[in-house]
Amino acid sequence: MSEINEILQKSHFSHADIVHMLGLQGKEKTCLFERAAQVKARGIGNRVYFRGLIEFSNICRKNCLYCGIRLDNRNVRRYMLSDDEIISAARFAAENRYGSLVIQSGEVESKSFTGRIENLLRNIHKATGGELRITLSCGEQEHETYKRWYESGAHRYLLRIESSNPELYARLHPRDNDHKFLRRIGCLNSLQETGYQVGTGVMIGLPFQTMDDLAGDLLFMEQFNIDMVGMGPYLEHNGTPLYELRHLLMPREERFQITLKMIAVLRIMMNDINIAATTALQAIDKMGREKAIKVGANVIMPNITPGNHRDDYLLYQDKPCTDENASDCKTCLEARIALADNEIAYGEWGDSGHFRKRNR
Ligand code: SF4
Repeated sequence: MSEINEILQKSHFSHADIVHMLGLQGKEKTCLFERAAQVKARGIGNRVYFRGLIEFSNICRKNCLYCGIRLDNRNVRRYMLSDDEIISAARFAAENRYGSLVIQSGEVESKSFTGRIENLLRNIHKATGGELRITLSCGEQEHETYKRWYESGAHRYLLRIESSNPELYARLHPRDNDHKFLRRIGCLNSLQETGYQVGTGVMIGLPFQTMDDLAGDLLFMEQFNIDMVGMGPYLEHNGTPLYELRHLLMPREERFQITLKMIAVLRIMMNDINIAATTALQAIDKMGREKAIKVGANVIMPNITPGNHRDDYLLYQDKPCTDENASDCKTCLEARIALADNEIAYGEWGDSGHFRKRNR
């Protein structure tokens, strides 16, 4: 126990400290989880913010090797929600005092897409009286596009780096100009310059990924001064090229446990950021999101996409809750969050404290 106690007393973790913590088992792992819970309770309180998730469209121009909705997967029924469907989902979020919305889509770069998102942002604010903070997650875009969306009322942006190791990133993507690690980094910089609260995240338990890579991911988030994080276990999809490497994967339970340790370590490293308990955790363990909340996560994204499209936005297989409607989802989450001894911060935007600090 003494080594973990010694590490936990430090004000800054080294790469080796993080690798050590990601390998903890038994009592030492419990010790890490308890410290993360304390840091969360003292720093941001045992509260969970809701972000109503609208999966706006599964049309994507890219071919990431791990993703179920990649361009070359011909078995996907492509869709794009209508403005009415989106506005009505946003109204549901406002009426139920969710505080925030996340609008997520595959990556499309075009004038008409940029303009449509711009109009939608303005119309959502109009329809909900400006009550909701809006997060976009629409991939890599030009600086000008990020600026236009920011000026139209999106103040947070999620762009997952997936792996901060450029070599591993290259093994997860086609080697062409559309899938460049440096562009992803450039986009994250551009989002920060524009003024967004910036979120990123990684997949955990990928083929070829090492504990060194994962420790590097957490240090990347710290050095980048990230405001929000969503990371989850890698879950394979049989319509993707990476599926062929599934024999290299560690068991799902192990991916799940490492994800919890990643969340706990990150909470201790960055006590004022927002960390999501991702749905992928629940695909492995029915209590996955509750467990993540207990070790440091403070954001949950209830799916408010119209139910008939949930099955079409499958980034990975075994995605839970695709047959629920928005109200079922809310009721289920309320019970789950109470089980984790946390309360839902209804009606609050839940901005990242880290963002406020770095902009003082
Ligand atoms: S991960 Fe994102 S950018 Fe890549 S194929 Fe899937 S939706 Fe498109």
